[in-house]
This record gives sequence, C-alpha cells and structure tokens, in this order.
Amino acid sequence: MADADALGDDHTTFIRFEGMPALSHAAVQLHTAGIVNSIQDGHPGFVSDGYLNAIAAETTTTVLELEAAGMWERRDGGYLVVADDMLKVTIDFNEKTDRLEAECAQRGEHLPSDGDDESGWVTCSHCTIPLKRPDGGPVALPGGGPLGPDPRQ
Ligand SMILES: [Zn+2]
Repeated sequence: MADADALGDDHTTFIRFEGMPALSHAAVQLHTAGIVNSIQDGHPGFVSDGYLNAIAAETTTTVLELEAAGMWERRDGGYLVVADDMLKVTIDFNEKTDRLEAECAQRGEHLPSDGDDESGWVTCSHCTIPLKRPDGGPVALPGGGPLGPDPRQ
C-alpha cells in the first residue's frame, strides 16, 4: 500500500456542497447510500447498524466523520440523518412517482409520450415509467401496471 498516497485515498478527497460541511468522498457516498437504503427499508432518515454492518466497505471512520460534521446522530440501533435536505428531496421524488404511478394504475393505462421514436424510448408522459426501450430493460406491465421484470437478468 506504499502507493496509497499517490493514488489518492477517498478520505483525503474533500468535496463541498452548498450549505454542507466539507466532507470526504467516502462520507458523501455513505450519506447518500444510507439515505436511499433508509427509504427502501421503510424508515426514512434512519440508517441502521444492520445496514452499516452489511455493506462491504469499512464504515467506522466515515460514520465518525458524518457524526463530527453534524450530519448523522447516534441513536439506538443506528444513526439518524440530521442533514436531511437530500432526504427530503429523495422522499418527495419517490412519493411523487408513487402517486403518479398509482394514478396510471387506476386509469388502467399509461399515457405514452409521443415523438420519442428517434431515441427508441417511449415513456409515460404522466408517471415517466418506460413503456418501450431500446436497451431491453424492464418496461411497464400492461393495464397501467408498475415496472415489469428485467428480461436481462
Ligand atoms: Zn404512467
């Protein structure tokens, strides 16, 4: 590991976001991943010890950095995300998409946007779910349904 300095260690690369303290790359990554996971886990804004233990990366130093920066606070069984601007944005986005998708499901059909032929992509103009795509990835199920299985998997 003699070359670690030359290659640049994650903890020595500092990024600055508006209104946020200077944080290392690793801290920003963990903050973001923790927020996304907390929402998927059904407890937005709470990053559980279980999650931190499950991810492969060494998180102890990074968590300490987020704590020291006042972004995360220790609670029973995990950390509360205090700097939650990103959390709000992510939740708002998820809720909006969920609501629009529910409206399409109720209507029983998506509303294909037109004029996307050149790119090969057709998305629902209401909920933005892909209806046709050139990359073979998942598209909406019939009848205004949610995203189907990914045939590439
Ligand atoms: Zn739709």
